[in-house]
Amino acid sequence: MYLVLLGPPGAGKGTQAKRLSEELGLPHISTGDILRQNVKDGSALGKQAKDIMEKGLLVPDELVAAMLDERFSNPDIKNGFILDGYPRTLSQAKTLDDILARKKISVDLVVYLNTSDDVIIKRLTGRLVCSKCGANFHVLNMPPKVAGLCDKCQGALYQRSDDNEVTVRKRLEVYKNEVASLIKYYNQQKKLHTLNADLDARQVLEQISLLCAKV
Ligand code: ADP
Ligand code: ZN
Repeated sequence: MYLVLLGPPGAGKGTQAKRLSEELGLPHISTGDILRQNVKDGSALGKQAKDIMEKGLLVPDELVAAMLDERFSNPDIKNGFILDGYPRTLSQAKTLDDILARKKISVDLVVYLNTSDDVIIKRLTGRLVCSKCGANFHVLNMPPKVAGLCDKCQGALYQRSDDNEVTVRKRLEVYKNEVASLIKYYNQQKKLHTLNADLDARQVLEQISLLCAKV
């Protein structure tokens, strides 16, 4: 199943994608994660993306499309994927359809994780990420058992440099400018399902699983 998770930063796309990936045995593909890895590795792409990401702006389409095309050449996507962080614009949605069409596959389901602004700000400014396995925690809502360490792999937890309030508000603004056209696009294709993602992660996961079971 080819699933796209849509929603504002902080909607819980990454959290849900990781759990679904385990549940369904499908790869979790996050453009944000791949970009951050590139920044960390100091690749040519990472060098171009770093400042843009720090500002909460979008990395240019051609760069992200090429990166994704390469990721999709991995045969692990033969039974499906969970795509998180792409598409973010109508143009990216069309690019995605083109890239997939060349591989004779198409998006089956788009789940829109609708979230309110105050929940987003609280979630992101308190978010902690594991440097080893990428698991997410939250200083208040989901604190790790041992401060600063991942429950799953003992990796060190850090705060993303774009998870400060100024950048979060910028990311939200960028997101809002683009999301309406995406929603319209996937609605027209009858692929869109909207969920209330202000609920806790377990409830949201249950609802996504139900939708997936119907595909
Ligand atoms: P969030 O969705 O919480 O903002 P992500 O990890 O998905 O976080 O993305 C972090 C940053 O990476 C974005 O603010 C943007 O700069 C860049 N990025 C990720 N995905 C894309 C994309 N599809 N197109 C352009 N830039 C992207
Ligand atoms: Zn970990």
